Parts: sequence; C-alpha cells; structure tokens
Amino acid sequence: MLKSIVIVGGGSAGWLTAGLIAAEHRAAPDGLRITLIESPDVPPIGVGEGTWPSMRDTLHRIGVSESDFFRECDASFKQGSRFNRWTDGGDHDAYFHPFSLPQGYGEVNLPEQWQAQHPQIPFADLVSFQPHLCVNGRAPKQVMTPEFASVANYGYHLDAGKFGVFLRKHCLEKLGVHYVPDHVTAVNAHENGDIASLQTVKHGAVAGDLFIDCTGMQSLLLGQHYGVPLIEQKHVLYNDSALAVQIAYPSDNYPIASQTSSTAQSAGWIWDIGLPTRRGVGHVYASGYISDDQAEAELRAYIVQTGGPEEIPQPRKLSFNPGYREQFWHRNCVAIGLSAGFIEPLEASALAIVEMSAAMVSEDLPATREAMDIVAKRFNDTFRYRWERVIDFLKLHYVLSRRRDSAYWRDNTAEVPERLGELLTLWRHRAPSRSDFNRIEEVFPAASYQYILYGMGFRSDFSRSPKPEEAARADAYFQEAATLTKKMMNGLPDNRTLINHIKLHGLQKI
Ligand SMILES: Cc1cc2nc3c(=O)[nH]c(=O)nc-3n(C[C@H](O)[C@H](O)[C@H](O)COP(=O)(O)OP(=O)(O)OC[C@H]3O[C@@H](n4cnc5c(N)ncnc54)[C@H](O)[C@@H]3O)c2cc1C
Repeated sequence: MLKSIVIVGGGSAGWLTAGLIAAEHRAAPDGLRITLIESPDVPPIGVGEGTWPSMRDTLHRIGVSESDFFRECDASFKQGSRFNRWTDGGDHDAYFHPFSLPQGYGEVNLPEQWQAQHPQIPFADLVSFQPHLCVNGRAPKQVMTPEFASVANYGYHLDAGKFGVFLRKHCLEKLGVHYVPDHVTAVNAHENGDIASLQTVKHGAVAGDLFIDCTGMQSLLLGQHYGVPLIEQKHVLYNDSALAVQIAYPSDNYPIASQTSSTAQSAGWIWDIGLPTRRGVGHVYASGYISDDQAEAELRAYIVQTGGPEEIPQPRKLSFNPGYREQFWHRNCVAIGLSAGFIEPLEASALAIVEMSAAMVSEDLPATREAMDIVAKRFNDTFRYRWERVIDFLKLHYVLSRRRDSAYWRDNTAEVPERLGELLTLWRHRAPSRSDFNRIEEVFPAASYQYILYGMGFRSDFSRSPKPEEAARADAYFQEAATLTKKMMNGLPDNRTLINHIKLHGLQKI
C-alpha cells in the first residue's frame, strides 16, 4: 500500500501539490503521510505572478480563505490578457483574451455574424462584457459576492514569494504536511530502480513510496537522477530569457489593472502585472535575436512610456530552455512544475499545468505499486497531449502576426507547426469549434482560439454554408453583452476599492 509521499521543492509547485493531495487524503484511515523537503540554500524562482480562474477552485479545494489570500499574497484580480502591438505593431494594435466565454458561445456562430454585421468592432469587445470591465478597471465581483464566487470570471495576479509562504503555513498548520527544511544531496535507489529515499544534509535519509519532483528547472529526480530528457521546443517558440523587475506606482491609490498586459517588442514581449502595492514587469525574449543589453533597453523604454520611473532596480535575468520532459512520471517518481518543463509565460499556463498535474496525482493516487505503472502511463499520455496543446496555442499568437519588422517576427511567421497549420486550414472556412478540442484533457477551449484568431485580424470565409437565419439570435447575444456591460459598469467597484474592502472586512465565506 502507498503510505508515504515525499515532495521535494518548496516553490509554488511543491506547496500547491502538497496542499491538494493533503486536503483530499488527510482523512484516510491508513494515515497517508505527506512530507515536503525544501532546500534552505536554493530559493524558489520567485516569478509566476499570473494565474487562471482554475486557481480559485484549487485554493478552495486546499481550504484556504480567499480573503486571507488577498491579505497575505498582495493579490489582485486577473480577468484576462490584453495583447498590444502583436498584429501589426502599431499604436492602435490591441485586443483582449478575456476569461469569460462569449455571450451565446456554442449557441450560434458568433464569428460569422460578427464578420457580417459588425466587422468594425473588435471581436472580444462585441461578444463579451469583460474587455470593457478591464479597460475601466472594474473588479469582477461585488463586496457582497462570497469568496471564490464571481460576477465575471477571474483568476489572480499575486506575489510569487508571498504565495509560497502562505501555502506553506496553511499546509503545515491545517493540513498536517510534514516539513523538512533541508537540502537533498543524493538519491538512494531500490534494486529495481525505484527511489527508496532521499539523502539530506541534517535529517538523514527520508524514505517514501512516491516521490514528487518539484525542484524547479534542475529537475533533480526526474531529469538528473533518471536522465529523462527534455523535448526541446526552442525551434518552435524561440524565447529563452527574461528580465524581471518590480516597480512602484506613482501614488498609493494608483488604479490596479484588471488584466495582464502583454506588449510585443522587437524580439519578444513585455508582461505588465498590477498588484496592490506594485507592478511586476518583465521582458521575455529570444537570446538568439536580441542581446541582453538591447532587451533591457526595450524594457526600460516601455516602463517610461507606461508612466513608470526612469530609475528602476536592476532587472533580474532568468534563462530557460523551453521544452517538456519525454515522460513526467517514471517508476515511483513524478515531476510537477518547472522540473516537468517550461515554455514561455505568454498565457500564464505553467501554474495551470501544475494545478492539473497535482489534481490528477491526487485523484488517481495509486493505492499500490502495481497500480502506479498504470496511473503513470495515463498521466504521461495526458500531459504530453496538454503540453503539445499549450505549444500550439502559444505559437498561434506568433504565426498570425503581420509584423515583419525584425528577423524574430519574420522567422516566427515563416513556419507553422503541422497540427496548427491543419487547424488554420480548417478555420479559413469555419470558426474554431468544440469539435476541434473535444478531449477531456484540453487546456484551452475553442473560445480562446476564437479570441486570439479574430482578435489578430484572421477572417474565415463562411460563404460555403452561411447561416443568415442566425443573424437575429446572434444580434440578441451582442445586445446581451452590451446590456451586461452597462449593468456591470454601474454595479461593480474598481479593483482597489474591492481589494481594500477585502483586506479590511473580508468576503463572506461560501
Ligand atoms: C520569466 C518567467 C515568468 C513566469 N510567469 C508565469 C506566470 O505568469 N504564470 C505562471 O503560471 N507561471 C509563470 N512562470 C512559471 C512559474 O514561475 C513556475 O511554474 C512556478 O513558480 C513553479 O515553480 P517550481 O515550484 O516548479 O520551481 P521553483 O520555484 O524553482 O522551486 C524549486 C524548489 O525546489 C527546491 N530545491 C531545489 N533543489 C533542491 C534540493 N537539492 N534539495 C531540496 N530542495 C531543493 C528549492 O529550494 C525550491 O523550493 C514563469 C516562469 C518564468 C521563468
């Protein structure tokens, strides 16, 4: 029987995994023991500030209070992403990928009727109220909306360092996770090749039945010990470097943005995330196309252009090799987080993949060693599919660009991965639909593809099977989006007002 799980790594991946498994299995009568080993010598990566709406469900499952989360993690609301300068690079080039589905999504062919009736309005602005909330800095809920519930779908922006501390406290105080603050120096193996225990500096050997590798990019167990290779993706998604910096607001009451802004540059893009106390800004770029100095100059120019200070702290440089492991679960070891792989943070999918991985380990937790190989195979199939879909979706943002102003953009648009190319061929004559993404393992819904595709100026030719009879119904949904916009603009507070309220009074528990 599986009785002991050992997680190595105390970054966001380690603590989210510990929390999800402990919350689900702590009442088990056979007393499942969960231990987390975290090196005092290796700090967590300290970035990863944007999450998906799935994080609401994850935090709720772990059993934390959303109000405490806002208080302790410097968290704010994220309602989607705004992409600037991705399509033609001009001053007016911007579109939204909101978290809420379009009004009438799946009921009528919204893209067809949008093209026929209102092609001058940006697609997301017509079919969803959410871009309007974002532009006007509205929060996605009211003071009376309970914890984790929403008026408009939302995820979070958060301080990654504070998030780890917050989760650790909850896991240790409320969920009975055992904590070993120590550095793992060696892996001790059974004769059959399974991991028997991990050797630490002060606590000796820590034994277990299942080992979860959350050691970040070094992938201590899966990558280093087992030698499971990384399937590199730099030939598809070129970015391999980032410069990250935190900057102060001009005043304490400065508005907090509702979305992650992603502004394309000559060889990458800049993220801009608003937390209650500061902005987190970073330039993700391809070292093969731009030097670190040039990338820093573009970052500094962006900060000044967007109202930030001339003087900023020295940006922190991060490097990564984009890719994912050939297997994620090998023998009695499964990797979650950066140890399993990392592709650039364009749609903030890394923590979402962590949540999905931890949830699947927890839900399919094998009772015996014999069952483990079966679960491992299913896990590997599922996550290989998911990583491939993340790559398709991120690459979509690049291949649709009409920018040709640098080798980076020219090369990015020159080659389209096979599956994505096939989908684009289909979408020339119809919109992305649920039938394109019909597996339970899907990461992005067809609605997300519609937002990116039509946001970036792609047009489908619907003349082969037009549906003029849907015009009136589609129009009703467009009206519904407009009516909801007005209603929500009147009824929702701004982000700072709501966050201040949460910090002072808390939200009602569900
Ligand atoms: C530039 C950049 C921007 C990003 N932005 C986003 C974003 O907006 N949204 C998103 O979802 N994700 C984002 N990510 C990814 C996100 O940061 C990670 O997925 C997330 O932080 C999880 O990291 P981790 O826990 O796997 O690794 P880490 O945070 O690196 O943690 C590794 C842990 O392993 C421990 N460890 C290492 N070696 C040992 C040892 N020998 N013994 C014991 N312990 C050890 C360390 O002490 C540490 O606690 C971004 C990543 C980068 C690089």
